Amino acid sequence: MNKKERSINQFQKYVEAFRCPLCKNTMKIVDHKSLVCSKNHTFDFSKNGYVNLLSSVSSSYYKKELFESRQQIVSESYLFHPLHESLSKIIAKDMNSSTLPYMVLDAGCGEGSHLQKIMEQQAFIGVGLDISKEGIQMAAKRYRHPLWIVGDLANLPIENDKFHTILNILSPSNYKEFKRILVPGGLLIKVVPRSNYLRELREVLFERTEKESYKNDATVALFTKHFQLLDIQRLSYTTKLTTDGMRNLIQMTPLAWSAKESRINTFLNEESTEITIDFDILIGRN
Ligand SMILES: [Zn+2]
Repeated sequence: MNKKERSINQFQKYVEAFRCPLCKNTMKIVDHKSLVCSKNHTFDFSKNGYVNLLSSVSSSYYKKELFESRQQIVSESYLFHPLHESLSKIIAKDMNSSTLPYMVLDAGCGEGSHLQKIMEQQAFIGVGLDISKEGIQMAAKRYRHPLWIVGDLANLPIENDKFHTILNILSPSNYKEFKRILVPGGLLIKVVPRSNYLRELREVLFERTEKESYKNDATVALFTKHFQLLDIQRLSYTTKLTTDGMRNLIQMTPLAWSAKESRINTFLNEESTEITIDFDILIGRN
């Protein structure tokens, strides 16, 4: 069975979780090659098994190089490992008291590595969605298990009350849509950076130490407007990156794009560097 056939078989099992982004009607798989709604809007599966469910063409801001760097650093370095463990534990706890199959949407999954890593620890049904076709293409090419969809956060191609958990990692939110697709009591797990996130990178690239500690108060306030806040877990640690890791980190970090090349070289001339990860994990119930 090739990648596309395997993916279509997976979609077949959970096809009732999806809906047409154009007319919002239910969809089914036709001729073993397309998702087709009751009004005949047709979305073909790609060679690697993802499906593009955007209602209009979008030009994505992120480039392929950024996703390649991110895929390498997330899947091959230790940098995000403690994050994946924390998220996996939160999901495992909720899975114990839920009906199966347990469905998890990674909303804004990019090139898919965070979701893949978490699924290596927990057996749930994972769906990765991003507006960037480049990101989803890379995810589908490399990773076998999650279902990969190109889609719009503001118009999720998903039926009401279908998912048990939404992961939203360093990515924008659409709370109205999140509430709509979550089962009653479903979880939203949102990861946001704190002021020390990638501190070393900013210090070298811009030669400044950010004394003012910024807070996520506005984000938390907005979150609690829509969801019952169960917990905020602070996750903070440092880890060493090799030169390759640092190069990938610079490529995947928008704040580095405006830095001077001489500063970037200073950073890369170190043999290895301690990098700080500093997150708030917001956990809310629908
Ligand atoms: Zn339709």
